[in-house]
Amino acid sequence: MENNKEMRNWLDAFKLNHPFVIAGPCSAETEEQVLKIAHELKNSDVSVFRAGIWKPRTRPGGFEGIGEIGLKWLKKAKEETGLLMGTEVATAAHCKLALEYDIDVLWVGARTTANPFAVQEIADTLAGTDKIVLVKNPVNPDMALWLGGVERLHMAGIKNLGVIHRGFSTYEKTKYRNIPEWQIAIELQNKFPDLPLIIDPSHITGNRNMILEVTQEALDLNYDGMIIETHIDPDNAWSDAAQQVTPDALKQILKDLKVRKVSGDSDFENKMTKLRTNIDVLDANLLDLLGKRMKVADEIGQVKKENNVAVLQNNRWNEIQEKMVAEGAKKGLSEEFITKLFKSIHQESIEHQEKIING
Ligand code: PEP
Ligand code: MN
Repeated sequence: MENNKEMRNWLDAFKLNHPFVIAGPCSAETEEQVLKIAHELKNSDVSVFRAGIWKPRTRPGGFEGIGEIGLKWLKKAKEETGLLMGTEVATAAHCKLALEYDIDVLWVGARTTANPFAVQEIADTLAGTDKIVLVKNPVNPDMALWLGGVERLHMAGIKNLGVIHRGFSTYEKTKYRNIPEWQIAIELQNKFPDLPLIIDPSHITGNRNMILEVTQEALDLNYDGMIIETHIDPDNAWSDAAQQVTPDALKQILKDLKVRKVSGDSDFENKMTKLRTNIDVLDANLLDLLGKRMKVADEIGQVKKENNVAVLQNNRWNEIQEKMVAEGAKKGLSEEFITKLFKSIHQESIEHQEKIING
């Protein structure tokens, strides 16, 4: 698959003067709930109403979705509000039913994107459709697997494609439910600048208080739109309660977001050139320093080899880590960043030393 201006055609056809918005509950629960939320969202910047009909739960016992009857509610919501309807599909049966009920936007969920057999089954069932099909990133931080999902659909003749960035699972607890790993989405955007890119701040944060900040971050990175879980009674939602917002809160978020221009006038360009030159110089210094640091690590490897000492010295490493987090805080650098940075430096250092000791 190659980047192609036509990838954006479906999005341009909305003729929006604001980012593209998908909103609605995590799950369709009752007919009344679906209709109430949809009515609250019509006459807003929302173009597509979302509601999960089949819910892949990580562990059994949770609410697994209302099933086919929910599609009838979506059809009714569309007739009453004029909003387009969107839902997640994971199997051939889901796809057939979604097409039968004329659902406009289908998305492949994160757990499904991680499974090429499942994505291929979806591609085969939807082959040639003119519906909009969006691919969420897989749960694991693997850009090729994400892109592979899009390519399977593309090869099945599906033209109206896009991607949803919903963050990645981690073993460690962080402030996010799923860490964004922005660089993965940015890399995808660099490869396919015309493939519509949508942020899912609900599943990234897992927390309604962080929706605005993560969506703003995405808009600052030129994302095309967002999918935000919206519920009439978030605290009593049957799934993902903590991350859903009310329709009024959603409208406030949409008001508070700042949409910035892609580039500005020449005074702006001059200032940016100066600042970017500055950054380039600093980046070169950073690389130089890192290179020097690795040379010292190599020497340490040599000494360890001569004394038959193991590469990994946990105490020493914990000391460095703690010291750097404390020093970093003084410079306004977050614990999360310093930890990641030094883990990665440490990893490289270990690899260097391994080579020396074993090579
Ligand atoms: C969802 O959108 O409700 C959902 C289940 O998302 P994900 O596939 O990103 O977990
Ligand atoms: Mn959800």
